[in-house]
Order: sequence, then C-alpha cells, then structure tokens
Amino acid sequence: MRHDDCLFCKIIDGELPSAKVYEDKYVYAFMDISQVTEGHTLVIPKKHTKNIYETDEETAKEFFGRIPKVASAIKKAFNPVGLNILNNNDILAGQTVYHLHLHLIPRYDEHDGFGFNWQMKRDDYSQEELNDLAKKISKEID
Ligand code: 5GP
Ligand code: ZN
Repeated sequence: MRHDDCLFCKIIDGELPSAKVYEDKYVYAFMDISQVTEGHTLVIPKKHTKNIYETDEETAKEFFGRIPKVASAIKKAFNPVGLNILNNNDILAGQTVYHLHLHLIPRYDEHDGFGFNWQMKRDDYSQEELNDLAKKISKEID
C-alpha cells in the first residue's frame, strides 16, 4: 500500500505538510508546491502506484472518477478561462515523483506559465498507416 521512501505517501500520512484540498477513502488532493498557475492542484490515489502503467483498474476507477468534482471546484474557486489535466509518466515525459498523480492546472491566458509544444502532423500519415498504428496497440490490450 504505502511506500516508505515515497514523498506523496508521506504527504498522505501527514508526515510532510501539504495544503489539502480534498480527501476521502481513495484520493488525496493538495496544492502543488510549484503553482505553475494559481490554483495548480495535484490529485493522487491513496494506494501507492508508481505511474499509469502499474495502476490497477479498480484504483483507476476510484481515482479518475473523482477528478471532475475537484476540477469543478477549481473552476468555481478561481474562475479560470481553461483547465489542463496532465499526467506525466517516466523521465522523458517529465515525471519527477513516482506516485501516480494528475496535475489540474487552471488557465488564465497564453502567458500564464503553462505551455506545451503540440505539433500537428496530420499530413504525415495515410488512413492505412493510422490503421496499422492502431492495430499495434489493440493487439496488446488484454
Ligand atoms: P511530476 O513532475 O512528477 O509530474 O510532478 C511532481 C509535482 O510535485 C511537481 O509539480 C512538483 O512541484 C510537486 N512537488 C514536489 N515536491 C512537492 C512537495 O513536497 N509538496 C507539494 N505540494 N508538491 C510537490
Ligand atoms: Zn507513494
């Protein structure tokens, strides 16, 4: 359940301080210490799981199921223009804490501190190539 060397497990257990937003049997939500934008909130499952790949369906169900209500609360509290929800898995994707978490990042304008590079490559793939890519994934789904 808990990993003794995990920062977020320590936050859940109150061994490290955090600004709590919400807590129930399955999840814990708190302010990200970095506040990329004002209201930047992290939601984590109480059950330690390293990242999305190691998350069982039941944990995912309880975890993701609670995201809309935290997101709606952020919307009410800060009245942002938009909201990005982000989950980083492994180093290249920017994961620095190895306890599954979602970043809820309210957006205020294009220069509010959050951004990512999202290159559209529509013209690079034919329908057949897209079908081949889809097959590669679908045959790996249990
Ligand atoms: P990642 O980079 O793994 O997606 O996100 C980890 C997040 O945890 C970062 O945004 C970072 O600011 C936040 N963080 C790291 N240490 C602490 C901490 O001690 N307290 C809080 N509240 N957030 C933390
Ligand atoms: Zn943990």
